Amino acid sequence: MTRLIFLGPPGAGKGTQAKILADVCEIPHISTGDILRNAKAEGTPLGLKAKSYMDRGELVPDDLILDLIRERLNQPDAKAGWILDGFPRNVNQANFLDNLLREMSQGCDRVVNMEVADEVLVERMLGRARKEGRADDTPEVISHRLEVYRQQTAPLIDYYSDRQILVSVDGDRSLNEVTTTLKELIAL
Ligand code: AMP
Repeated sequence: MTRLIFLGPPGAGKGTQAKILADVCEIPHISTGDILRNAKAEGTPLGLKAKSYMDRGELVPDDLILDLIRERLNQPDAKAGWILDGFPRNVNQANFLDNLLREMSQGCDRVVNMEVADEVLVERMLGRARKEGRADDTPEVISHRLEVYRQQTAPLIDYYSDRQILVSVDGDRSLNEVTTTLKELIAL
């Protein structure tokens, strides 16, 4: 049973690695960013509400995210385990997740903190903007997303380190090297 949270700044490679690992473990990769981008593309009520926040690089309000996570973790496929990518994003979401997992009699094995220097992150996100045309990968929005990460998400490093489930991984290596480290980690 594998239950992991991927933590790290935007552009650290969380999504790519979380997807690979979820495939290996045959468990769902649950990315709130992907869910919101799909909702936005489909023009659902959730997508319409989330759009302006996402385009500005702000977090969407917690009330748009919390029920969504509760429902997703209660889906049958998540019984086998899960990898959360992009959630929790602030202390309130982390407290909510703690309570939800307690309610479900589940726990989280590890929180993987992907570490990458700011200059590298900016370069990677600008590259992604050229490739994928994401509205939130312009230079201004990128620097705002990093600021939001530092202010709201980075405190979760201490939050999970205090609970002794945090593992930091150097994300500034080749894709394969990072994957190898992560596989070793979950084999423990
Ligand atoms: P990501 O792909 O995880 O970087 O997410 C892209 C955007 O979706 C973020 O900049 C936020 O606007 C929004 N988002 C994703 N996950 C969350 C979350 N857990 N809480 C609030 N906003 C989120």
